[in-house]
Amino acid sequence: MSESPSTTSSQRFDVILIGGGIMSTTLGAILKELQPEWRIALFEKLDGAGQESSDPWNNAGTGHTAFCELNYTPRGTDGSISTAKACGIAEQFHVSRQLWSHWVREGTLGSPRTFINALPHISFVWGEKNCQYLRDRYEAMRAEPLFAHIEHSEDLDAIGEWAPLLSTGRAAEQPVAASKFEDGTDVDFGSVSRQLAGHLDSEGVELRYSHEVTGLSRGTDGRWDLKVKNTAGGEKFTASARFVFVGAGGGALSLLQSSGIEEIRGFGGFPVSGQFLRALDTSTAEQHHAKVYGLASVGAPPMSVPHLDTRFVEGRRSLMFGPYAGFSTNFLKSGSYFDLPFSVRGHNLLPMLRVGATNTSLVTYLLKEIAKTHKKKVEALRDFFPEAEADKWELITAGQRVQVMKKNEDGKGVLQFGTELIAAADGSIAGLLGASPGASTAPSIMFKLLERCFPGQIEAWKPHLEVMVPSYGRILNEDEKLLSEVTESTAEALQLDV
Ligand SMILES: Cc1cc2nc3c(=O)[nH]c(=O)nc-3n(C[C@H](O)[C@H](O)[C@H](O)COP(=O)(O)OP(=O)(O)OC[C@H]3O[C@@H](n4cnc5c(N)ncnc54)[C@H](O)[C@@H]3O)c2cc1C
Repeated sequence: MSESPSTTSSQRFDVILIGGGIMSTTLGAILKELQPEWRIALFEKLDGAGQESSDPWNNAGTGHTAFCELNYTPRGTDGSISTAKACGIAEQFHVSRQLWSHWVREGTLGSPRTFINALPHISFVWGEKNCQYLRDRYEAMRAEPLFAHIEHSEDLDAIGEWAPLLSTGRAAEQPVAASKFEDGTDVDFGSVSRQLAGHLDSEGVELRYSHEVTGLSRGTDGRWDLKVKNTAGGEKFTASARFVFVGAGGGALSLLQSSGIEEIRGFGGFPVSGQFLRALDTSTAEQHHAKVYGLASVGAPPMSVPHLDTRFVEGRRSLMFGPYAGFSTNFLKSGSYFDLPFSVRGHNLLPMLRVGATNTSLVTYLLKEIAKTHKKKVEALRDFFPEAEADKWELITAGQRVQVMKKNEDGKGVLQFGTELIAAADGSIAGLLGASPGASTAPSIMFKLLERCFPGQIEAWKPHLEVMVPSYGRILNEDEKLLSEVTESTAEALQLDV
């Protein structure tokens, strides 16, 4: 086999993971457990793991179980509420809970309190039409075993007992409604990423921080050659692998484009940045213990659903409200203004232009968001917390989300808000585009990747996968006994008993 002159034997791997966020570290930990003898390297351009979107201040930390996110239960054209998407997301979060429980038992992850906390999830709306929607959603949700324990109230005092900040100072005549799940969670995905990276290091994975992958190409031997630059020391070298995972978050699009694989043709990215208000006053934060999600404004992308939520970072409680959308052409918080223009190719120009032309409500929403002053931002907060005072909240910048723009069947373009797994037909390279529901579903996405990219090994891995995730390959909503066993055992392992 011919090797590029700069590739020494020490830079040849079975697997290379690009990026040190929740996705790469999850995949690395799964693979290391399944194939301990494989040589794995992880290249991360920053000086540590979990510092981009997976950092706890860069995302909302919601363990997305579809308990409170109203965009997962839309009303269909026939007037009925669809629970299909919500069920799919809840199933995926149960997979995450099982894998994290397994890793806590194995010592791969530390004490559950360092990364996950029990926290009620509440949906809250006002106005008669929205109250009717929530009432109908409650009926549809409680028919599903996954959501049978939902609680609902339209009484302001009762809602105030769930979340006092919502009711204090609110006009008694305003119609309001809330649905609640007591067993929601807040997750510090940065902590999970860092703990998994530490585990990989201890298991002999070559963890290289401050190493940026600047391009990749297919060698004549079928291996992938990666150009790597040490951003601290300046030296450049090539590393090669049989399989590459592009877990570079917002940096994934350009790396997948650089690989030249057919499957990335027609894809583009549209960056939307996020901002949150954070309460400066700890006594206000102490009065709220929930993630409260409302309805998105017209034209707003689903990930901009407003929420007033408790967060736990390094054991400290915070109260946040947002997100407010911003616009920057960066694809990563640590990226470059040239990310968007440099991502334009002949094959994605038309879909991107078409998305711009057909999403005027999104463009209008973004322009309005960018123009919002601090006073206007606090006005939006007062819809949830009527007594909020403007000078007791500070604005923080969260992470970048790169929404997927994709060529559809008619060759034109559509904007997508989900996560898209892109894999080469031969399974030698895969990457992730998009954002939502994101970090919460990382284990399910990585299992899907294994099935797609390692079809020859997956059958042999199955017994071990079932140890990691006892419900692997089964649908909990169709097996109430298994659902209850899995819920109880993970609540115990993750210390989530409420
Ligand atoms: C405002 C906001 C709110 C969100 N809220 C939630 C939520 O409540 N719940 C939820 O589940 N998800 C949420 N998400 C989504 C979630 O944060 C992401 O899906 C998840 O963190 C993505 O993980 P990742 O590993 O793919 O990317 P990242 O965490 O961004 O990691 C990618 C890594 O790759 C590195 N990298 C990039 N390019 C290169 C390169 N060329 N060479 C080497 N390294 C490179 C980056 O430095 C980075 O460390 C939210 C996202 C945002 C922005």
